[in-house]
Amino acid sequence: MDTVDLAIVGGGVIGALVAREAVAAFPDVTVAVLERGLIGQGASSRSAGVHFPRGATARVRSMSEHSQHVWERLAAELDLPIREVDATVVTSGDADALSATYLRLGDETAPADPARGWEAPPGARAWTLPGCHYADVQGVAGRVLAGVRDRVTVLEGTEVTELSSDGAYHRLTLGQGRELLARRVVLAPGPWLAHPAWADLVAPLGLRVKKVVATHVESSPAPDDPLTIFDDEDAFLLPLHGRGHFLFSYTSDRWDVAPDDAGLVLEPSDLDDARAVLGRFAPGLVARCDSGRVFCDAYSPSREPVVAELRPGLVFAGAANGSGYRLAPAIAAETVAALDLTPTRTLSQPRQRQS
Ligand SMILES: Cc1cc2nc3c(=O)[nH]c(=O)nc-3n(C[C@H](O)[C@H](O)[C@H](O)COP(=O)(O)OP(=O)(O)OC[C@H]3O[C@@H](n4cnc5c(N)ncnc54)[C@H](O)[C@@H]3O)c2cc1C
Repeated sequence: MDTVDLAIVGGGVIGALVAREAVAAFPDVTVAVLERGLIGQGASSRSAGVHFPRGATARVRSMSEHSQHVWERLAAELDLPIREVDATVVTSGDADALSATYLRLGDETAPADPARGWEAPPGARAWTLPGCHYADVQGVAGRVLAGVRDRVTVLEGTEVTELSSDGAYHRLTLGQGRELLARRVVLAPGPWLAHPAWADLVAPLGLRVKKVVATHVESSPAPDDPLTIFDDEDAFLLPLHGRGHFLFSYTSDRWDVAPDDAGLVLEPSDLDDARAVLGRFAPGLVARCDSGRVFCDAYSPSREPVVAELRPGLVFAGAANGSGYRLAPAIAAETVAALDLTPTRTLSQPRQRQS
């Protein structure tokens, strides 16, 4: 039976960053990432991948700040598929109200651009928001792991079907019938919270899975078109330059879906809801809002990401409430800090260092 110091279940953007953070902090630990599909194929593959420096609580603001620094550093180091974008926040409130959640507001700007058919509801104001970017999140997860693949065993097409704990180690049964012993385990299953291998363990966290919808708007973005965040609506309009269209993300209120539901598709009511919000700001785009992407994400009761030890040496990481890309570096840092990865040599043999 194979043994590792750390098994990471789930190869989404959070699992990938936990792997990177673990080998950076503890270069001698043995790490395996177990992914039932391909790396980044879960919620990460459907993500809009927007980062904006925002947080409703002090912890999330601090996580957002930390994550922004890490993404900027990794983007340069690993040539990640990340694109900086100008951004504007539109609100019916004032700068003080926005400053309570956004880390760094820029100058006040026009809330509408009549030349492009943009209108703004009466009383709307807008500010620029520096420090935003968007990413191909599946590509990011793959690149992050590629950078440590000589030190991390990546097993794709490998479902974890059972998970049991026995004193000093955890036993993971893998889809192919193999078993793996791990001194520590990180569960980073995205919205797959109800998998029988861990449903009972995760249940006390009170997490729920919500449908997430982003529509596609068939209008070609200009190179300098900004990301526009409609703060009152918790919605945003993002120019996807590489794909040649805009993405409009709004808040869906359909709870308790499952990631493997066949019915998790774009429904007529999703398009109606998206068009109603979009029509308040850019009526000229409503008729072009006809398709989109649908998946789901895990949400926590506190609306903060969850890093929680479920059993000694077994930590859950995720439930980032639709912000799992932008907060992933901070979630990974908290997760590795919650694991005692100090080498004990009870399971893994000391590595021969090459001089
Ligand atoms: C449409 C949409 C738009 C979004 N836009 C944004 C955005 O703009 N900004 C932002 O920050 N966030 C956004 N999000 C949220 C963000 O994408 C997610 O929070 C993030 O991708 C979650 O990453 P994860 O690694 O936790 O989960 P996932 O990417 O889902 O990874 C979990 C992995 O676990 C694997 N797995 C599950 N069960 C098993 C098992 N038994 N054995 C082995 N492997 C298993 C799955 O195959 C999956 O690959 C969006 C989400 C959606 C759906």
